[in-house]
Amino acid sequence: MRILVMSDIHANYTALVAVLKEAGEVDETWCLGDLVGYGPDPNAAVEEVRDIKNLTCLLGNHDVAVIGRMPLETFNGEARRSLMHHEKVLSASNMDFMRSLPSKTKVRGEATMAHGSPRDPLWEYILNTLSARINFDHFDTPWCFVGHSHIQCLFALDEKTDRVSLEQVKPDITIPLHPKLILNPGSVGQPRDRDPRAAFAIYDTEARTWTPRRAEYNIAEVQERIRSAGLPEKHAARIAEGW
Ligand code: ZN
Repeated sequence: MRILVMSDIHANYTALVAVLKEAGEVDETWCLGDLVGYGPDPNAAVEEVRDIKNLTCLLGNHDVAVIGRMPLETFNGEARRSLMHHEKVLSASNMDFMRSLPSKTKVRGEATMAHGSPRDPLWEYILNTLSARINFDHFDTPWCFVGHSHIQCLFALDEKTDRVSLEQVKPDITIPLHPKLILNPGSVGQPRDRDPRAAFAIYDTEARTWTPRRAEYNIAEVQERIRSAGLPEKHAARIAEGW
């Protein structure tokens, strides 16, 4: 099976459509959460996700805030402004869809999915080998897929030496999978690894491979909509540079 793994769409409908097109035919789609927050198109993005066949989708921390399960005050001013806007404009059925989502799940008995980390699915960032090491004790599948940091990367645990390494990944370079790994497909709508192209990955369950990928999209058009919705300029500026 060929599976599209993606995360952190953040109401960037144009980037999402580019990823779905670039990914091509897939058997399943696994989305690691944060459908909303930051971007200009919360309804269009959620509706596009809802239309995906064979979808497994998680809730992210921004989604949890918008559906009222976490105070918006937990977010900094600029992130909060977008969330307040999204809370106002999101349709009731899109809200209900988000309310139905889990924040962590196990798929096909071989992969754990969590938005932030398997230890703390909504909030923890796995950004270094120390936080990765702790999290290897919190899942029992060969691999775990996480988002939240918006950085396309992978952490590998060498079970013999108990050492964790952060491995650089490059777009279009296929990586053979071996236990145990924590893999991040990067962010669709707001990459933070200095590559502004929308990030995603293709997981091949038979070949046991992972291919990080990027998709170009019309960034200027999204910036335009961020500005005309009156959302913070920072959210427009950063998507052009990937930070
Ligand atoms: Zn996010």
